[in-house]
Amino acid sequence: MPRTYIKILDIKYGMKQFVLHVTNSSEEINNTATPLFYKEMIQAWQKMKRITEIVKTREDVLNQIIWCNEQVKINGKVLSDSDWSQNGIQRIKDVMNSDGKMRIEYVSQIVKVKAEVMLKLNRIQKAIPRSWKERLKSSESDSVGKQELKVRKLTQEILKGDKIKVTEKSIYNVLMHEVNAQKSTGELRWEEILNIEIEWETVYRELNRKDSIRERKEIDFSWKCIQNVVWTEQKLKRIGQSNGICSRCGIEEEDLEHLLYMCECNENIWSIVEQWVKDFDDDIKISLNVIILGYRSKDGNINDNTNLINMIIDSVKWKIWKWRNDIKYNNDWCEIDRIIREIIGLLKWKKEQFHRMRKDKVVANMEIIFNNM
Ligand SMILES: [Zn+2]
Repeated sequence: MPRTYIKILDIKYGMKQFVLHVTNSSEEINNTATPLFYKEMIQAWQKMKRITEIVKTREDVLNQIIWCNEQVKINGKVLSDSDWSQNGIQRIKDVMNSDGKMRIEYVSQIVKVKAEVMLKLNRIQKAIPRSWKERLKSSESDSVGKQELKVRKLTQEILKGDKIKVTEKSIYNVLMHEVNAQKSTGELRWEEILNIEIEWETVYRELNRKDSIRERKEIDFSWKCIQNVVWTEQKLKRIGQSNGICSRCGIEEEDLEHLLYMCECNENIWSIVEQWVKDFDDDIKISLNVIILGYRSKDGNINDNTNLINMIIDSVKWKIWKWRNDIKYNNDWCEIDRIIREIIGLLKWKKEQFHRMRKDKVVANMEIIFNNM
């Protein structure tokens, strides 16, 4: 985006990159000669800022810009006073003390036209959201989550300096934070079924680890299981495309728990997997919890062992799903013994790939597993 359009209101408001810092400057920009395309870009940026900006702590409130702020409105309109802004009255902290009291004397000293000070300050005070005023008046201390700090840092980085480097990924991360702030229906469903509160951040950290040895399709499938967006018979039934019954056992309704864990056709596949990996964790128990959320080491850390065991669990999950689809769509019936043989074949093939990629440690660990088969 051309620098001219980013700087378009800078002189007027006496602030660098004014349009990038505020959340609603539509009216101001409409009065300039900014081409429609760039106008829309600025508006999109401001909209994203509106969605993602967190005003929670005392410091957040004090740092909010008064002008062109979607949250600071009077009679439905944002405030804009370029004279005051040029004189340095730009943020809440310029008109209010940290205890919420108006800084009448200070403002009177620095603005040129003294007569209007009280009138204008009253307008600003009215426009500031009640929750912000209460935040300043309350004596509670601030608390900010880890994830939130990350987003704050990122937003600061995006806005820092003259060089603007906004990548798709950075925007995605900021938006995802907002999405992540609320648990998805799939996540809530698992918390209910497993009857535990889950630290989702830890689950996704293992799932998305950079050195993951799982295949992309397996990671995606695991993610879909977590979000409960796999087209099981139960899901298809809801849109009238199935009777809901498992196509393997033909007895019970097929939801994800049934598909991956409870179906009698799975027999003791998970205890077989436990045997395979027992050298890495002698009392490993592959429960539904582990199948869906992934395996974690006893100390909760992400390490080579969790990488390996999760790769195996995900290979089995993916294979069960393929097996079910072969029966459902190709009428290709087969028994669990053949499935286990095929899983072993798949793992051997993977070992060859790791060998080729010179992942010696993984290859050595997989050898240990093959010895347990
Ligand atoms: Zn079944």
